[in-house]
Amino acid sequence: MVSASPTPTSTPVGTPTPAASVTPTPKPTTTPTVTPAPTGSPTPTVSPTPSYKPGLYSIDAPNSLWVVVDKKRPLNPANYVPASLVAPRFDDGAGYNPNRLQLAKVAAKAIKVMATAMKSAGAGTLALASTYRSYNTQVAVHNKDVAALGLVAGENLAARPGYSEHQTGLAADLAAVGQGCSIQVCFATTKAGKWLAANSWQYGWILRYPNGRTPTTGYQFEPWHFRYVGIELSTEMHRTGIAVLEDFFKLPAAPTY
Ligand SMILES: [Zn+2]
Repeated sequence: MVSASPTPTSTPVGTPTPAASVTPTPKPTTTPTVTPAPTGSPTPTVSPTPSYKPGLYSIDAPNSLWVVVDKKRPLNPANYVPASLVAPRFDDGAGYNPNRLQLAKVAAKAIKVMATAMKSAGAGTLALASTYRSYNTQVAVHNKDVAALGLVAGENLAARPGYSEHQTGLAADLAAVGQGCSIQVCFATTKAGKWLAANSWQYGWILRYPNGRTPTTGYQFEPWHFRYVGIELSTEMHRTGIAVLEDFFKLPAAPTY
């Protein structure tokens, strides 16, 4: 892209840049200087250059943005309950949460920003299908899926209690109003599903169970399940092209319990 036209959004560049550069090199182009444009650029709440630092957050503490929960890494304690759960309200109409489903406060805030962006990109109205689930709720979900699908297929969808990312309050099963395919693999083909897969990282969310990664994640392709990890980590994962938390943090694959 060489045009000097004002880009509509301030999306971070998607190119896989070589890692090592410390400062953004000043371009020897015709542009005068790097003056911060005083024009009202429509940058939202997100800070301009979120910088990833290894070890910024714990991957073990259940209330950490970076906690990795999988079939080898149960929550500790197993009955963990997030301290601040809130039901996101989409006052601008960009999202739909009629059942007042709850997320951890940081994730609730971040999902509103993402819903607004999705709506203005023309990808539809974000609907929350499932968010925080308590240990006891997970008992019921796990029992239901295993009863319906058998142990193996059931557990590729529903975690055992104490092993679910949903219990952190940082995970959300997302859908879109009127687009169908709610909690189905075909969500990946909807406008919303495509937009989320391509753009969620800009808002701190990752597609947690990508296609073809079941041997690592332990879960089937779930194009609806997103995890809030914060913009530092989501940006770094996007930049490095490492899609899965287990790979990023060099943790063992977790296909089974
Ligand atoms: Zn989920």
